[in-house]
Amino acid sequence: MLAKMGIAAGIFLSFLVVVIAAAAGSIASLFAGGNGGSLTCTPTGSGPGGATGYGPEQISNAATIVAVGKQMSVPEQGWVVALATAIQESGLRNLDYGDRDSLGLFQQRPSQGWGSAEQIRNPTYSTTQFYRHLLAVPGWEQMSVNDAAQLVQRSGFPHAYGRHELAARQLAGAVHGAACTGSPTGAWTVPAQGTCTSGFGPRNGQYHRGQDIAAPIGTAIVAAANGTVIDSGPATGYGLWIRIQHANDVITTYGHNSRNLVQAGQEVHTGQQIAEVGNRGESTGPHLHFQIDINGRTTDPVAFYRKHSRAGLCG
Ligand SMILES: [Zn+2]
Repeated sequence: MLAKMGIAAGIFLSFLVVVIAAAAGSIASLFAGGNGGSLTCTPTGSGPGGATGYGPEQISNAATIVAVGKQMSVPEQGWVVALATAIQESGLRNLDYGDRDSLGLFQQRPSQGWGSAEQIRNPTYSTTQFYRHLLAVPGWEQMSVNDAAQLVQRSGFPHAYGRHELAARQLAGAVHGAACTGSPTGAWTVPAQGTCTSGFGPRNGQYHRGQDIAAPIGTAIVAAANGTVIDSGPATGYGLWIRIQHANDVITTYGHNSRNLVQAGQEVHTGQQIAEVGNRGESTGPHLHFQIDINGRTTDPVAFYRKHSRAGLCG
């Protein structure tokens, strides 16, 4: 009986808590940044066109700004605001210096909560941060490019952005068709190749906290994103589990493993093998139980992947 209760507390969660989690709604916007993504963009077709005067590094950065905007479903006006801002702040260069502790394309400051210096020097990360702040400005789409940019940047030179609007529009047009490779913003990868079986939600009068992916014993389980292993070992209900801490208070859990290949404290990267699929714990056949918690609240992994990965979790 005690063991059973342990299982209930582990893999399942009371209905009430999940309903509260669902009501929390737009939690997703908190972690759109991730910290593992990076895109490398190469403009294709007729080349820079109207974007004369910019070198390859600047064009590549402009392409990244547009590509991240597309991926985050930011309207074109937002790309123009971001490009005008980056032209003003850095000349579209990923600077390793700036005023006080300002860094990177947008001259974001670690001391002001924009991220670590290393994160800000990642153009994909800093662009994502820019858009997150822009999208949080009410009515930004109705504002001038200058005013929208200033509300994000809070610059000591509040009228400096508007004069780059034309150049920004030309650049947006020039790099619009850029081909980008690499892992996109907040890239998440599928943790195991297999068949999605039991999903997140009510199951047998309880609440299933994850997505089950059926696969033969020994199938590779990989880290869904960059992070740090915080648990690796036996766990009630899960048999043998691994938990990984990611950016923005996201934790992924991998359960019923036959074998773990990483230890607590270890840094792992997206797609790195961490374990093998098994059938341990409370399990009715070989599968991976994959679970995502955000700020301590369990969320539907399939819905999460719809937002954060180009590849769906279950097709
Ligand atoms: Zn499960």
